[in-house]
Amino acid sequence: MGTQITIHNLVKVFGSGSKATAAVDNLTLTIEPGELFFLLGPSGCGKTTLLRMIAGFIDPTSGQVAFNGQDVTHNAPNKRNTGMVFQSYALWPHMTVAGNVAFGLNVRKVPNPEKDQRVLEALAAVQMEEYAHRKPNELSGGQQQRVALARALVIKPDVLLLDEPLSNLDAKLRNDLRHQIRNVCKASGITTVYVTHDQKEALSMADRVALLRSGKIMQVGTPRELYRSPKTRFVAEFLGETNLIEAQPINGTDGASTYQVQAGQFLGPRQENAETNTKQNLLSIRPEAIRLRRDGEPNTLPGKLLETTYLGETAQHLVEIKGCPPIKIAEMNPYGSTSAVHPEPGDAVRVEFLAGDIVPIADA
Ligand code: ADP
Ligand code: MG
Repeated sequence: MGTQITIHNLVKVFGSGSKATAAVDNLTLTIEPGELFFLLGPSGCGKTTLLRMIAGFIDPTSGQVAFNGQDVTHNAPNKRNTGMVFQSYALWPHMTVAGNVAFGLNVRKVPNPEKDQRVLEALAAVQMEEYAHRKPNELSGGQQQRVALARALVIKPDVLLLDEPLSNLDAKLRNDLRHQIRNVCKASGITTVYVTHDQKEALSMADRVALLRSGKIMQVGTPRELYRSPKTRFVAEFLGETNLIEAQPINGTDGASTYQVQAGQFLGPRQENAETNTKQNLLSIRPEAIRLRRDGEPNTLPGKLLETTYLGETAQHLVEIKGCPPIKIAEMNPYGSTSAVHPEPGDAVRVEFLAGDIVPIADA
């Protein structure tokens, strides 16, 4: 039950000589059976190339791809039993929805009562059974993409591959479909590899995410691990907003360390490596892990409010703290009953970095 995908030292070089570039650069990764696994990264980082090597549309330069331990590296796409969904819906315009979904079953010569049954089931899985007799041009973009998903699912693939399936849809539809696609994938139990450049899509849908840059994996983990414990500047910045602060750690004894910036000292995570005590240290602090405090409260730094953007449920403050870049703070329920202070731009403020949410990161 379920297919494990193992990728070992996989390389794809395009071009030759001085023009040769590794789109996928010696990449090793295991995707577990039934996982909804995301390949995330900026445009051109090699996501599509990697996905197409898993599908068999691109022949790797070197390395291996295996399904459940069986080497499939050089197997043709139709020998891998994968289903694929692309950014463009790629439905046949002259066929009905049901005809489009049945296509893969016709190719596989599935006999009739079973075929009709499976088409209905696949359409039901994406809540499109009412539209079985429409043509693609009578459907919205979101509906067309649900049909494309049904068409990929109906063949009962071992592996489902999706390449930016929501990129052509507007924001509201994207949001609705995120939940629906996740539910369909998890209900099917099919190992799914989902490519996107959209960090919100990855955070909200994935079991695990690999963040790629220049054909290499920068970090793999659950959405929470990547967001809360980024190892590098690139990961911290790619997954949402953050403040990067250079601070000097001062030895701590009680599980926390004290850090020094020009404006003063604050508590943060303990330094595991005593060597770093002599170095400047880069810390990532998310805007929501910083509070505006009253004068005299402990573990606060003095600053000056530069500007506030009021967004209703949140406010975004920008605060100047000596020795730091302008600090972004996100405040929930601003000016509400729980809001401690209501400074105006230009006012002196006190700022607390929540010690448990500060992450030391590598400058890479
Ligand atoms: P992504 O899907 O992350 O945007 P791609 O996998 O499409 O990235 O591309 C990765 C890199 O490989 C890019 O630099 C791209 O220009 C290059 N590339 C992709 N396909 C080809 C090709 N067929 N020939 C030459 N270069 C390619
Ligand atoms: Mg791509």
